[in-house]
Amino acid sequence: MVAGSSGSASSGRDIHVVVFDLDGTLLDSDAALLAAFEALGVDAGTVTFGHAVAEEAERLGLSLEQYEAAYDTEVAQPFAGVEDLLAQIDRWAICSNKHPESALAELDRLGWSPEVACFADAFDWEHKRLDPVLDALGVASEEVVMIGDTSGDALVAEAVGCDYLWAGWNPRTGAAAPVGQVLASPAELLDWLSVRRRS
Ligand SMILES: [Mg+2]
Repeated sequence: MVAGSSGSASSGRDIHVVVFDLDGTLLDSDAALLAAFEALGVDAGTVTFGHAVAEEAERLGLSLEQYEAAYDTEVAQPFAGVEDLLAQIDRWAICSNKHPESALAELDRLGWSPEVACFADAFDWEHKRLDPVLDALGVASEEVVMIGDTSGDALVAEAVGCDYLWAGWNPRTGAAAPVGQVLASPAELLDWLSVRRRS
């Protein structure tokens, strides 16, 4: 198929940039996120993932400042294979609902330098969107693929019409059997990208 000949998700688009969600996609951070809520007296069973941090804190009766102070930025580690994956991708970005102070501290700890990183403050503390990320990258939606672990990630990709793949290496995501293409491992993304480049 000729690149760019169709707008469908399997069309052989010329993908230039991978946009990742952070928590639950690159970072195995569920436990760290839950620990902060539990330290503030929230029942872990009431916490759900993939929301704007301010909105989830408010829903659970906390202030954003309380939650941010309770979150330990030294704990969460990358999923297996993520570091190798990032080292092999020329252009990658992050689009995340996380508090920018926590997120930037973690990027610094891990030595990660995405080309663009947009966090909750970039979206007025509401649920994230891809538009500001695409603008900062200077690319069209047809040129990116979004990788995420929650339905909120899938929805932001759908909103701009870009390709979307599930980070199935997160056991929570894999167990949910989401609709769409699920990557079993970070290395599978490299295979997907290489196929696109031959298209
Ligand atoms: Mg996530």
